[in-house]
Amino acid sequence: MNSYRHFYVDNQWQPVTGTSLIKLVSPVTEQQVGELLSCSKADVDAAIDSAHRCFPRWAASSIEQRERALTALRAAIAKRTEQIVASLVTEVGVPVWVGRSMQVPMPLANLDAIIEGLHQLKWEETIRTSRVVREPVGVVAAITPWNYPLHQIVAKVAGAIGAGCPTVLKASEVAPGAAQLFMEAVAEADLPPGLVNMVWGGAEVGEWLVSDPRIDIVSFTGSGPVASRILASTAGSLKRTALELGGKSAALILDDANLDAAVPMIVRRCMNNSGQACVAQSRLLTPRHLQDEVVQRITAALAEWKLGDPIDESTRLGPVANARQFDSIDRHIRAAVDAGATLLAGGAGRAPGFERGYFVAPTVFYDVTRTMQLNCEEVFGPVLAVMPYDGDDDGIELANATRYGLSGAVWSASESRAMNAARRMRTGQVILNGAPPNPASPFGGFGQSGFGRENGRFSIEAFLEYKSIQQ
Ligand code: NAD
Repeated sequence: MNSYRHFYVDNQWQPVTGTSLIKLVSPVTEQQVGELLSCSKADVDAAIDSAHRCFPRWAASSIEQRERALTALRAAIAKRTEQIVASLVTEVGVPVWVGRSMQVPMPLANLDAIIEGLHQLKWEETIRTSRVVREPVGVVAAITPWNYPLHQIVAKVAGAIGAGCPTVLKASEVAPGAAQLFMEAVAEADLPPGLVNMVWGGAEVGEWLVSDPRIDIVSFTGSGPVASRILASTAGSLKRTALELGGKSAALILDDANLDAAVPMIVRRCMNNSGQACVAQSRLLTPRHLQDEVVQRITAALAEWKLGDPIDESTRLGPVANARQFDSIDRHIRAAVDAGATLLAGGAGRAPGFERGYFVAPTVFYDVTRTMQLNCEEVFGPVLAVMPYDGDDDGIELANATRYGLSGAVWSASESRAMNAARRMRTGQVILNGAPPNPASPFGGFGQSGFGRENGRFSIEAFLEYKSIQQ
């Protein structure tokens, strides 16, 4: 059983002085697999203090020093790949395959893009008579979720290092193993004392952190309701905030699309990580006359998405992370049935064949309409909504008919038609014909998917201010 009882401050592991214990439960067996001791307010103070002391020194560091720090950190993380994968399997039920192919490679690719970004940024320029310089914003509070825990930590902490900012990280209390191993990599990379600090805990610790006046910017990835609380807590001090929130991303199939390629890829980008991805393509929009054919192809594609024990290397789909997640997904599925959506596969309750564990069968509804909850609310589970539309304009309007705007996809045999549709989608990214992700491009949302951008040089820019020196 893993026991997380030390926080990281001033380049040292210190015993947590808080008394509140959080239990970690296996999503497979529902038995306890670990525990985490929440930091006290004094621990949080010590971490902020350490970051605050480090700020002047690291703000003055050279680009070469920042590159050396990030390169050392990357090597120390890569060494820990198998340990990180093992912790994700145990604590959040991530299949080994997802851990090895996505959960670790993605942040490493992002670190490479952040290192490249150091050299892409215009750190100084002359505009008419002014010298315009980019300067670090100050001490960063980084608050991250559990679904791609290492990726979200790296996107923030590596960006802050590149910008010249120290960080206090409060990682998710649901997936502490990835954060612990990340901090062990920080320790091995021999960074300056106070550059990266970490505290353990949940909402209370997060509140202490974001409301402290020594924090200059809060970079948060998580849910909308928590983001609203953070905005309320930081409003008084007018602190900078960057928010990466949820999504309800649409994959828009145009009537000339290659369905052989489109349907399996959309199913994959919905079901991956058991649908627990902010960019999950959870709505498939199809021309009405193609819906029956699309539905048949989905049935065939689902054959690849068998549920199983995440530790088994052949498992593609594991359980969802915890009981809270299971109950919430279950409520969404029941609401879709009640609203009259047609169930094609899966359904509410524990998946057949499992006596315990938070296993949700991959679930697909069709004939989903725009007023149904399934079109409007993020499920954050393996649930796909197939929605018919009539004509390109209607399809694009349907794609935009949510309060979110994180990601989307377009499938068409015509590059210009696909590009035209992409330009009309109100989302921070659009993927054409299943293109691979590009960690050097900006990532973030429109609407209630948040504000701010990260990844590559944008992870650095998130923590920079402009200064104009008139001469
Ligand atoms: P969450 O909002 O419940 O928690 C996120 C983090 O905030 C955790 O570390 C949590 O301890 C902390 N927190 C909770 N209450 C707080 C408070 N009052 N003050 C400060 N911190 C507080 O989200 P989650 O369940 O961990 O993650 C799932 C959500 O994250 C989904 O909505 C998903 O779409 C979103 N997400 C977004 C992105 C993105 O990049 N846009 C990526 C991954 C996940």
